[in-house]
Amino acid sequence: MSEDFYDVLGVDADASAEEIKQAYRQKATEYHPDVSDDPDAEEKFKKIQKAKKVLTDEEKRQAYDRMGHDRYEQAEKHGFDASEGGAGAGGMGGGPFGGMGGGGGMGGGGLGDIFEQVFGGGGGGRGRRRPRKGRDLRTELEINLEEAYEGVQKQFTVERPEECDVCEGEGHPPEADSQTCPECQGRGQVTQVQQTPLGRVQQTTTCPRCEGDGTLYSESCDECRGEGYVRNEAQLTVEVPAGIQEGQTLRMEREGAPSPEGGRHGDLLIDVSVQDHEEFEREGDDLQYRLPISFPQATFGDTVEIPTLSGAVELDIPKGTQSGETFRLEGEGMPRLRGRGHGDLHVQVQMVTPESLNEEQREALEAFAEAGGDEIEVNEGFFEKIKRAF
Ligand SMILES: [Zn+2]
Ligand SMILES: [Zn+2]
Repeated sequence: MSEDFYDVLGVDADASAEEIKQAYRQKATEYHPDVSDDPDAEEKFKKIQKAKKVLTDEEKRQAYDRMGHDRYEQAEKHGFDASEGGAGAGGMGGGPFGGMGGGGGMGGGGLGDIFEQVFGGGGGGRGRRRPRKGRDLRTELEINLEEAYEGVQKQFTVERPEECDVCEGEGHPPEADSQTCPECQGRGQVTQVQQTPLGRVQQTTTCPRCEGDGTLYSESCDECRGEGYVRNEAQLTVEVPAGIQEGQTLRMEREGAPSPEGGRHGDLLIDVSVQDHEEFEREGDDLQYRLPISFPQATFGDTVEIPTLSGAVELDIPKGTQSGETFRLEGEGMPRLRGRGHGDLHVQVQMVTPESLNEEQREALEAFAEAGGDEIEVNEGFFEKIKRAF
């Protein structure tokens, strides 16, 4: 299915170039195939790039606005595009009878659309756009590592435009006088025909006077000043999946702004951040834990308890362990968002040198050093340090 480029980027038809670029950056980050968990991310990412390419090029955008989505795609594919037309050759494989990405189900054939476009043939509402979707909204949500581990249902509030209760979204009181819009004769759309080097091009747009309503009203709603919607605080609950990572975005479909044209609501995008944890450091699906051990533990080996996010487990420290050595506890890391299983928990041991010793410890350690023979000489500075502690 083809999708309107403005919808793809989630911007209004009158969005500025800057707004379009900004929307592109957001979307591209969200759907980057390396980052997104959306199974269709790659395809969406391509669409986003395509939409941006067209809408940020003034000439292409004008052509796009004039022709509407399907005709533009057809025209570009078959080399009718007035702009550079870099994508023209791409149509070869698909042939003229509507391959991928073409006009989709509209009228069934690519050629028909082209003739219609070039010769301005009838077809009535064929080129009409769907009502534009409402704006996507964005919010932030912070969770802790335990919640990211288990997955969690989170309640949160978001301020968003919602249909006005007083006028039920109509923008005018029910008793207001109405008249048929003289500009469009109540059709809600106006059609203009332009002469181009390729022939007449017919363009249908939403009527600017009645904004597509087809009717003008004597007064507008006081509550929403005729907008049809007001800003409200909505309380929502989102299902945060186990394994979610810092910076990932959840999408709640149709929880964004209502469409001013009566189309579907936009989506609500939730940027998730995960708080740092006191004990664990996260690296992707793996966790890192630092375990302080003593010199005797490192020397003789020991069995110690390691905290994990699913309860304590035992770890055998082998004798002769070096400070900085890492042990891997398989499957004790974070659950994998995509696919099964868990990452690992890496336990890095850090041997802690005692900063002070009691008499007994000092003598034992001196005896230990002496028993090592010529190491005494080497470790002279070490003994100086111990003595200074008393
Ligand atoms: Zn209202
Ligand atoms: Zn009108």
